[in-house]
Amino acid sequence: MNILFLINLSYVAAAILFIYGLKELGSPATARRGNMLSSAGMFIAVVVTLLDKQILDYKWILLGVVIGSIIGAFAARTVAMTGMPEMVALFNGSGGLSSLLVGFAAIFLESNSTFTLITIILSILIGGVTFTGSMVAYGKLSEKISGKPVLFTGQQILNILLVVGIVICGVMFELNPDNLNFIYGVIALSFLLGIMVVIPIGGADMPVVISLLNSYSGLAACAAGFAINNIILIVAGSLVGASGIILTNIMCKAMNRSLSNVLFSGFGSAKQIAGAVEGEVKPISAEDAFYILEAASNVLIVPGYGMAVAQAQHVVKELQELLEKNGAEVYYAVHPVAGRMPGHMNVLLAEADVSYDLLLEMEQANPRMESFDVAMVIGANDVVNPDARENEASPIYGMPIINVDHASTVFVLKRSMASGFAGIENPLFFKPNTRMLFGDAKESISTVIREFGS
Ligand code: NDP
Repeated sequence: MNILFLINLSYVAAAILFIYGLKELGSPATARRGNMLSSAGMFIAVVVTLLDKQILDYKWILLGVVIGSIIGAFAARTVAMTGMPEMVALFNGSGGLSSLLVGFAAIFLESNSTFTLITIILSILIGGVTFTGSMVAYGKLSEKISGKPVLFTGQQILNILLVVGIVICGVMFELNPDNLNFIYGVIALSFLLGIMVVIPIGGADMPVVISLLNSYSGLAACAAGFAINNIILIVAGSLVGASGIILTNIMCKAMNRSLSNVLFSGFGSAKQIAGAVEGEVKPISAEDAFYILEAASNVLIVPGYGMAVAQAQHVVKELQELLEKNGAEVYYAVHPVAGRMPGHMNVLLAEADVSYDLLLEMEQANPRMESFDVAMVIGANDVVNPDARENEASPIYGMPIINVDHASTVFVLKRSMASGFAGIENPLFFKPNTRMLFGDAKESISTVIREFGS
């Protein structure tokens, strides 16, 4: 048995662990095991790659491992739960940049066939777009730059020119592989294209960008795998690329938009009709909210980004148990784009040990909305905005929402009348059956919990 056979056999084992791990990630009940299996697969892949006889010098690898581990451990320990989406954007960007660098390094391997040169260009192109695109997404998510779409005349033409420029530089490099200026051209134009692709996307459309960039980072890794002829990188990259595309599709469906519409229409660039909101805001105190909750027999909890900000998931779980003890049935309805990253709310609720059986999908919750005495909206805004149903002029018109306004009473827990990520008004706050429970969600719920105890 030669060493190459053993390496390939280990790669197959790692690939099986990746695929099985991904399958297990499909359900919250098995997700932890899925994560462990995929990590084990990655561990095997890394160790086997390091044993590969083609590696001549471990010094640099070791240095990279040490620096990477320090940054990773520091980031994982210090990042706040609310900063997680930005961190995911940074990770996607790092993945893209790594593939770009791997592709670039592959240029200096002894002899490159035409096919390898094409894969080198692709890994640099997709990696570059992913890197700068993710940096812009990071800026928008962390509100370091405006989340508003940037649109200008001739934007599409400029994008086409960039693509044409990349193709020309790529072909020239293919013909003159020794002239690195052409590859520097591909790098620069790809960086620019990444920025140009993400700046026109804003507001509620960002979930699609996040999942699309995730997919791109996989495709870039896959191309880099071809460039250096590493099977496991090709497999892992394809898996990330394919699952990212599936997630993108799910996100588009959740917003009732097509991908091209998300990428090119510029969310929120159309002016919203001002003064369309009618009705009066009715604040309620936590004490009064308690009396209504005490009398309720069916309660629906709808979490949103504000629950992550307030870190209210544990008190929410506590309230759920008190309501159940009081004889009420309690369910949670989770919108696919609630929060700032796919699955954001599910992660928080799992952290608080909320049973998966109590989680309703939007499609399950909406038909039975009339049966809920109280719908408690905890730091959610865009995902419960009835304008998506009722106001054709709204930028989110057509996006399926959780129809909390169809419940008998709606409590909205938030700190002010401020808008959500999409930056638009929410007529839910003015509906006759809505009561606004102003304040930090964790504090408001803690007060309600204290009332149960007194
Ligand atoms: P929103 O961003 O629409 O609203 C969150 C609300 O939480 C705000 O209105 C804010 O109001 C409130 N809030 C903030 N802090 C607190 C606190 N401490 N206590 C109580 N309330 C608080 O969130 P949704 O989850 O409803 O919608 C998600 C939005 O983000 C969508 O537009 C989606 O498209 C977008 N998005 C989603 C991504 C994803 O992958 N899921 C990725 C990127 C964007 P106030 O300030 O008054 O308290």
